[in-house]
Amino acid sequence: MTGLDAGPQTAADLLSTHARSAIVGEVMPSERPGFADLLDLMLPRDCAGCRAPGRTLCPTCRTTLTRRPFAHRPTPCPPGLPPLLAAAAYDGVVREVLLAHKEHGRLALAGPLGTALAAAVRAAGELSPRTVLVPVPSAPAAVRARGHDHARRLTAAAARRLRVRSAPLLVGVRGRADQSELDIAGRAANLAGALRARGPLGGLPVVVVDDLVTTGATLAEACRALREAGADVHAAAVIAATRRRVGVTRMEGPIVER
Ligand SMILES: [Zn+2]
Repeated sequence: MTGLDAGPQTAADLLSTHARSAIVGEVMPSERPGFADLLDLMLPRDCAGCRAPGRTLCPTCRTTLTRRPFAHRPTPCPPGLPPLLAAAAYDGVVREVLLAHKEHGRLALAGPLGTALAAAVRAAGELSPRTVLVPVPSAPAAVRARGHDHARRLTAAAARRLRVRSAPLLVGVRGRADQSELDIAGRAANLAGALRARGPLGGLPVVVVDDLVTTGATLAEACRALREAGADVHAAAVIAATRRRVGVTRMEGPIVER
């Protein structure tokens, strides 16, 4: 199952499915090992972060991912963005590892990346046992092109570490242009009303999660859609936050459509 629209259709169905997975610790559908996972495990690999031979991620690079989560505010900060926590800055090793997982199918990296995301979520404060981690949905065409849904996989991995539930409660309601080619105002306009929550969510405590934040516009739109459906959005958490280049108006962004 790779598309966000596959599987159960109501919020209650989604939550019950994911709650069962979390309680019994079974492998969620989006994390079930596939051919790519097996290849990743079987083939001799270099470290995704530094190319050192032998392991898919060496101990030094693994530590870089989880050193110390920090509060992050994009400048300017989009309206409605809740407290935002990031595990690391988006550069060097962190950038290499995220891209290796997202774009190059190195799915075994979902474990350490999920640990990093869990650390960022934990830094946002105490979690209620009812808390649900909600991934920002990727465009279906991007998921098809990659052959996997990176955000959903990372969210499930983080939820297991935190012993809370994860559920894909957001769906895209229209196509979004490639954000990396847009400036701040363009990103906001491109995203307004782009997402919808499967609801109603009646006070459900949620933390919105993603692999990467640049301007925060996507996370803010996700939070708007969840609040509109009645969710209680506590925070947002990402693995990596981009830093603005001094003297450059355009933001550093992902090199591909998310
Ligand atoms: Zn390394």
